[in-house]
Amino acid sequence: MRKLLIPIFFFCIAFFNLSCNHTGQAAGDVSAIDPELADSISRIRIVDNHAHPNTIDPADSGADALPMDGLGAIALPARVRPESATWVSAYKALYGFTGPELDEKAMKELSGTVARVKKEKGEQFPSWVLDQCGIEVMFANRMAMGPGLSNARFRWVMYDDALLFPLSTQAEAAATPDRKIFYPMEAQHLKDYFTALKLAKIPATLDAYLKQVVSPTLEAQKKAGCVAIKFEVAYLRSLDFEKTAYDQAAKVYARYADGGTPSHTDYKLLEDYLFYYIALEAGRLNLAVHIHDFPGVGNYYVAAGSDPLLLEPVFNDPELRNTKFVLLHGGGPFSEQIKAMLWKPNVYVDISLLTQLWTPDQLAAVLRQYLSQFPEKVLFGTDAVAFGPGLGWDVSAWIASTTGRKALTIALSQMVGSNDLSRKRALEIARMVMRGNANNLYHLGLK
Ligand SMILES: [Zn+2]
Repeated sequence: MRKLLIPIFFFCIAFFNLSCNHTGQAAGDVSAIDPELADSISRIRIVDNHAHPNTIDPADSGADALPMDGLGAIALPARVRPESATWVSAYKALYGFTGPELDEKAMKELSGTVARVKKEKGEQFPSWVLDQCGIEVMFANRMAMGPGLSNARFRWVMYDDALLFPLSTQAEAAATPDRKIFYPMEAQHLKDYFTALKLAKIPATLDAYLKQVVSPTLEAQKKAGCVAIKFEVAYLRSLDFEKTAYDQAAKVYARYADGGTPSHTDYKLLEDYLFYYIALEAGRLNLAVHIHDFPGVGNYYVAAGSDPLLLEPVFNDPELRNTKFVLLHGGGPFSEQIKAMLWKPNVYVDISLLTQLWTPDQLAAVLRQYLSQFPEKVLFGTDAVAFGPGLGWDVSAWIASTTGRKALTIALSQMVGSNDLSRKRALEIARMVMRGNANNLYHLGLK
């Protein structure tokens, strides 16, 4: 999920208390919320596997690889629409809002309050937000870090999709109206990589591109502190990456390096080869590979291309077993397919974005399935992001962290209630999901 600019002219949000009003009656399995678990989970400091915090620079130009500003009005699920009641509780918790609804007058007053808090906190504002949400470390998925995000509370996850597209993407971009907007952005990012490497133009051969551009870029990202690299490539093409011989990819590269537009069939050979190469290099450099895996966002997004099963050849490649893959956003409705992929020893899942879009009960139902099978593979995430004026990453982080805690409490209480787990083990799993699994996966060295 990336920055979404939603025009907001008028709010009419009825009071809604986000605090847990779950009655303890779960479908098909009667189990009350376990108060001891709820209390413990409310105090666990989170490692947030995926989010988009902003710097304190109002322009914040390094936030996003594919900003959606140009896509027009995008269909969004009800919980994140401007009129959704969920925003009220976040404003109460973060900024002491006391009114019943976020109408135009309330929003005007709140914008003054938020501006005052930002001014008071200065560079500490992003860390202050984490404190309010009980988040110890947030992974910032951004093109560049910046003021306010330069302390150890924030770890960098860089986008690397641009490396997959060194040739003209004119034919690729013609596939959907969204891709027509996105591909030129990727071309600009690739140019920026070249500039950073002091390269004037694309190298003549694939071998030179790998050695002079791809590997040095990944090495530089690692050196700059990245813990992972991110592919949001499902916005640009299907996740059906197939193992391709070097010679096949090199032929396509050499033919079009000087100009011309490859067909989709030809380009795919090169993209597929590059994806495997980057994944292999990520393993060598100890960078986890994050993959956007969700049937959105965008009115022309191709949901079928996000099926996690499409990645099975990648996950089953013995050469890539040293690379850790994290499927972001729990796959959304592809959770069944995600469960199948969690059998792979190097595949993990995070619940970011679901903590924004789904109710605690909806998320708990999926979490329970993941946790009954592979509790050591599940990571907490918010996907905190600025949704538009008045709906910043700060309120988004609060909603997602609160929803995630509630969902985990519901899932684990049900598992304890039905004697699937002891309370002691449930608490261990809560700590694993909220911080321990990430601590192990990324070697964060947290206590
Ligand atoms: Zn995201």
